[in-house]
Amino acid sequence: MNKKMTKILIVEDEKKIAELLSDYLRQTGYETHILLRGDEVIPWVKKNEVEMILLDLMLPGMHGIEVCRGLRQFSQVPIIMVTAQTEEIDRLLGLELGADDYVSKPFSPREVVARVKAVLRRAAQPPVPENTLNAGILKLDEETHQIWVSGKEVDFTPVEFGLLKVLMSRPERVFTREELLNKVQGYDFIGYDRTIDTHVKNLRRKLAKHGVEECIVSVYGVGYRYHIPTA
Ligand code: CA
Repeated sequence: MNKKMTKILIVEDEKKIAELLSDYLRQTGYETHILLRGDEVIPWVKKNEVEMILLDLMLPGMHGIEVCRGLRQFSQVPIIMVTAQTEEIDRLLGLELGADDYVSKPFSPREVVARVKAVLRRAAQPPVPENTLNAGILKLDEETHQIWVSGKEVDFTPVEFGLLKVLMSRPERVFTREELLNKVQGYDFIGYDRTIDTHVKNLRRKLAKHGVEECIVSVYGVGYRYHIPTA
């Protein structure tokens, strides 16, 4: 019996782009299916098995944003959103659509293949236990509000704790400043986008003091992402 191939759904109304992507993905060893309209996606996904979706934003029938929202009502299939404008990525992230990654057009098919591989790899990882975020040498307990770095407990302010918790919950996922700001509101935090930078700076300083560097990565023009530190 042949090894089952990972099936990727490509939703793209520009047929040439769709076929180019499909060719590259097939060469890499994936199985593909192309849909040219947004309104065909949800019924198709309900009837067919698919392990990843590449979703264009501007689509006839139904906008990519609505498609993504609709999919998330019943499916956790990894989604990579494809958009023509880089500025849109910031807005998309702010909408909390539940997409797993974003690619801006024009893209190189090679880049898309690399993203697809990365997202599939992440999706295959076991989920993080509910109350403890244990990512390598950094460990965070949501219930007791404690953080350990290399097994040693380190004090953080409530805002720093909140920021770290959000970032660590989705390693490599990019969070915008606005999104981080909204998510840490529960920590009595009122501020502007740029105050996030100050807190991140403090966080980094404290982590660096305990030998953990470069785990909070700046994403130019967007925000921050968490990269699991290695000892
Ligand atoms: Ca389009």
